[in-house]
Amino acid sequence: MSSRSARCPVCGQAIAASVFDATFRMPDGTELLCFAVPGSLCATCSQLLVEPDLIDTLALGDGRCIFAIESDTMLVERASS
Ligand SMILES: [Zn+2]
Repeated sequence: MSSRSARCPVCGQAIAASVFDATFRMPDGTELLCFAVPGSLCATCSQLLVEPDLIDTLALGDGRCIFAIESDTMLVERASS
């Protein structure tokens, strides 16, 4: 019922959870595109924060997020409560 608010571990600012389409660059140089990734984006330091469990599930390992955009369609669906 209540939405969980997260805090950016870098700057401590409160950030809202949302859904993102994101690209990750893996240690071997390949890029992995993930759609509808639940996470939080800190606008202050441009960090995409993803749950550690999800990083395991997607096998991101040491991959670095190089691009993330808020998934508009998901937001529309969530807004109509
Ligand atoms: Zn931050």
